[in-house]
Amino acid sequence: MSRAPARCPYCEQKALIRSSEEVTIMVRDVYFDCTNPTCGHRWKAKLEFEHSIAVPASAGQPREGIPIMPRLRKALGMNSKPRPAPA
Ligand SMILES: [Zn+2]
Repeated sequence: MSRAPARCPYCEQKALIRSSEEVTIMVRDVYFDCTNPTCGHRWKAKLEFEHSIAVPASAGQPREGIPIMPRLRKALGMNSKPRPAPA
């Protein structure tokens, strides 16, 4: 795992996470500090859940409302798009 999760968009040096806070279970606000002492840039970014790469074995199957990687969806024999509700 990387110790420098981002680079400063001003000086391109490594940045460290100062703190973070949960917005929702799928979204987190992350506050970064540039490690370059002559720069001093600080910023906020959003970390958002995109899709599962592997479903936890304990879950047995994908949980409704938690997106999974399209390739995994296909491997599990699921439709690529949710079925429309019956008329
Ligand atoms: Zn910087």
